[in-house]
Amino acid sequence: MANGVRIGIAGAGLGGVAAAGLLERAGFDVVLFDQAPAFSRLGAGIQFGPNVLKILAHLDGLDKKLEAISCLPDYWVSRKWDDGSVMAKIPLNAERERYGAPYITIHRGDLHQAMLDCISPERVRWGHKLVDFVDNGRDVTLSFENGKTETVDILVGADGINSCVREKIFGVSEAVYTGWIAHRAIIPGAAAKSLGADVNAKWWSDDRHIVCYYLDRNEDEFYLVTGEPAEWTSRAGQLPSSQDALREAFKGFHPLVQGYIDATDVVTKWPLKTRAPLPVWYQGRTVLMGDSCHPMKPHMAQGAAMAVEDAAVLARCLKELGTKDLDHTFRAYDEARKERATKVQSISNANTWLRQPEDPYWCYGDNVYDLAIG
Ligand code: FAD
Repeated sequence: MANGVRIGIAGAGLGGVAAAGLLERAGFDVVLFDQAPAFSRLGAGIQFGPNVLKILAHLDGLDKKLEAISCLPDYWVSRKWDDGSVMAKIPLNAERERYGAPYITIHRGDLHQAMLDCISPERVRWGHKLVDFVDNGRDVTLSFENGKTETVDILVGADGINSCVREKIFGVSEAVYTGWIAHRAIIPGAAAKSLGADVNAKWWSDDRHIVCYYLDRNEDEFYLVTGEPAEWTSRAGQLPSSQDALREAFKGFHPLVQGYIDATDVVTKWPLKTRAPLPVWYQGRTVLMGDSCHPMKPHMAQGAAMAVEDAAVLARCLKELGTKDLDHTFRAYDEARKERATKVQSISNANTWLRQPEDPYWCYGDNVYDLAIG
């Protein structure tokens, strides 16, 4: 164990789970807390680029396990909303050797479960909503809604866009609604195939888009996720929606898109929120990562990717620079991550990624294990 140092992670989302797995392998005594009563299989898809797969390889070959069950698109195709003409065709697995790892699309629940399987189960505490913590300079005492307390040497805030950890450091502030929602639905892969689907495509009009891809190696499920301007007044993180709402929002889009919408059953909608970049990602014995410090609109499909990259760099900093001078270690982490995460946040929020032909190598080709730390 890394000098018996105990690290508490608030949030068992994709970022927190990656951090737990990597820190456990670096020899730390990790404990992962989440407010949810148990793991649940969120009905959504996710894309993970080669920049993330290179990190997941460090979780006992998780990259290979995911590759075996995921869809591996050769290209990303950007299409014009009405006539379907190709605006950009970007190599993904077609240039796998160049990027250094595969590009996968997968069911988010399957990905999350596979990542959780890489952590010793006794390290995960469901039903633990962090409500307060006190950093007394020597350690950090965590208080949970269920009345329990825990003492750790370091607290990692991986608790998402409404982070309690960020709030405690920087004060309470509402996330900013961007004026956009995302509709999400999964249709049978056979329905998509019979219509003649691209393996991974984004259909763009001037003010909205729909992204479509398979979720598994057998192409059994096909995922639709949109970005569209809409009002949002609810405090809920998601709401039920309908096929009719989707049809109305994408009226006039190409017949292939109409065919996908006709095949939907359960449709949900999500508000897309963001926050301004933070000046610093740490204070005392506490450090932030993922959506807790750089949430973004999801249009670059790199939000969770940035959380996993944060996890890997944080684990490297703690292991390589040690925990005696945390200010130095956390500053090195902050400096190593902030420029890239902020760049991705800004492009993702602008929704310009791969709309036109461009080389995504700076993003997908990156390997956080090549970074000079400190
Ligand atoms: P989260 O995933 O939000 O996890 C936070 C965790 O903390 C949750 O489990 C929550 O229960 C827990 N928590 C919260 N508060 C507390 C508390 N007080 N105490 C204890 N636990 C707490 N990213 C990609 O890389 N690729 C994609 O294709 C992609 N597609 C997306 C599509 C949509 C429509 C959206 C909305 C996002 C998408 N993203 C994608 C972005 C991605 O979902 C987020 O950036 C990512 O989930 C952030 O991970 P995280 O671990 O930082 O936070």
